[in-house]
Amino acid sequence: MERRTRVRFAPSPTGPLHMGGVRTALYNYLYAKQKGGDFIIRIEDTDSHRFVPGAEQYIIESLRWCGIIPDEGVDENGKVVEVASEKHPHAPYRQSQRKSIYRQYAEQLVNAGFAYYAFDTAEELTAAREAKESVGETFIYNHSTRLNLRNSLSLPETEWKALLEQRTDWTVRFKMPENTVVKMDDMIRGHVEVNTNTLDDKVLWKRADELPTYHLANIVDDHLMEISEVIRGEEWLPSLPLHYLLYQAFGWQDTMPRFAHLSLLLKPVGNGKLSKRDGDKMGFPVFPLQWTNAEGETSHGYREDGYFPDAFVNLLAMLGWNPGTEQEIFSMEELIAAFSMDKVQKAGAKFNPDKAKWYNKEYLRTKSDDLLSDAFMPILEAKGVKAERDYVKKVVSLIKERATFVADFWDIASYLFVAPSEYNEKDVNKFWKEENYSLAFKVADFILAFDGEFTKEGIEGPLEEYIRGNEWPMGKVMNCLRLALVGASSGLGIADIVTLIGKEEFGRRIDAIKARLC
Ligand code: GLU
Repeated sequence: MERRTRVRFAPSPTGPLHMGGVRTALYNYLYAKQKGGDFIIRIEDTDSHRFVPGAEQYIIESLRWCGIIPDEGVDENGKVVEVASEKHPHAPYRQSQRKSIYRQYAEQLVNAGFAYYAFDTAEELTAAREAKESVGETFIYNHSTRLNLRNSLSLPETEWKALLEQRTDWTVRFKMPENTVVKMDDMIRGHVEVNTNTLDDKVLWKRADELPTYHLANIVDDHLMEISEVIRGEEWLPSLPLHYLLYQAFGWQDTMPRFAHLSLLLKPVGNGKLSKRDGDKMGFPVFPLQWTNAEGETSHGYREDGYFPDAFVNLLAMLGWNPGTEQEIFSMEELIAAFSMDKVQKAGAKFNPDKAKWYNKEYLRTKSDDLLSDAFMPILEAKGVKAERDYVKKVVSLIKERATFVADFWDIASYLFVAPSEYNEKDVNKFWKEENYSLAFKVADFILAFDGEFTKEGIEGPLEEYIRGNEWPMGKVMNCLRLALVGASSGLGIADIVTLIGKEEFGRRIDAIKARLC
């Protein structure tokens, strides 16, 4: 029988979610949705030392903003589900609240001879490490050392059983087999083999806080939650042999998920993982949403920097996956249809901040004038500009092709709301010559006296005819007018500007430049 597709995103709430993490969640989501399966969120918070308040909510909100909506684990209000129901049968989905589940599995492994109790204190382990290092070797807790350490394999049974009762700081360790080749398959990397001699006896469960470590909790929960594919970052590839061996030890190999390890997002220049420092240096965010840490330092977020969530999702999807065609713009629906694991690349994906901006620009021009006006109104308000919404909408429709972000609207079009206070010096030197501006003033008079329909369409033709008919130099005249209206020789066409700002304001700006520059 075909297995139901169930994948999960299993973040640890240790800080804000890096954009690489969002991409992992996205690929999981696309994979699940394409197959009509389930996308589950599970919070892996068993490492209390690394817990960061607010991180869990941040992660959920980030995914929501992207439109990556889980089927299971988080409810409609964005809360991690704590009580089981038909829709969320495996609750709680926060591992710290699943605490009581894991001990029996650790004990099952001990009883079957796949794990053992270890009583070494931190000091004893440090001493063992230093002893090895002093003879130029590295310490590794495995078959080569475990019989010289304090555990249920090296100590007499009566002794370790007594320690198990008396002490509250023991752990359960996995008994990594000696010199065994673990043969694994990865959906992206293909066949991988690792010899266990390089691996250590990882701690699976700790008596001190009665909590599992990542490895045990992760395998037990993936099994209980019937996960069919594990899609995660390549930093987990070194853990894969242990995970394989754990599935075997539990006797769960028949329902073991398939694994896909995603390559890293790389720096725009140079080598290595894309980091927050790269973003700070080059001026782009690495987090989906703005984040303020405990020290009060705030990091940029794509949302607050003016990226549209669909643009962000699109650009992330293309970092490490390609459709095999030239198509670059994909809605979420299109991504779901087109995504395939065999087109996910093995090599790391270099992040290009200019391409990210390009995506936003492409998306901006497809947004409705209403949506863009809603986003622009508060910016105008903050500038102290009072403008009618209909007017703003008209402006937006004319300038949106030129902007990358809504925030650019002000730089592009402030002159449609306030008169220029400066005239660009270079443009003045180039165009503001008497032979030009004297003609421009005549054109201004023509515009002010124009009694046809005062719309762009109404005036554009007559205006051109008037200038051409007089055989005046069109470009030079228009640039003088633009200097008066915009403060520079750039900007929209004169017909657009005058009909937007109106005759009265037009007249005022002509008078103003006369007073300043003539
Ligand atoms: N909690 C792990 C993380 O934060 C999950 C790794 C996995 O998906 O197995 O990356």
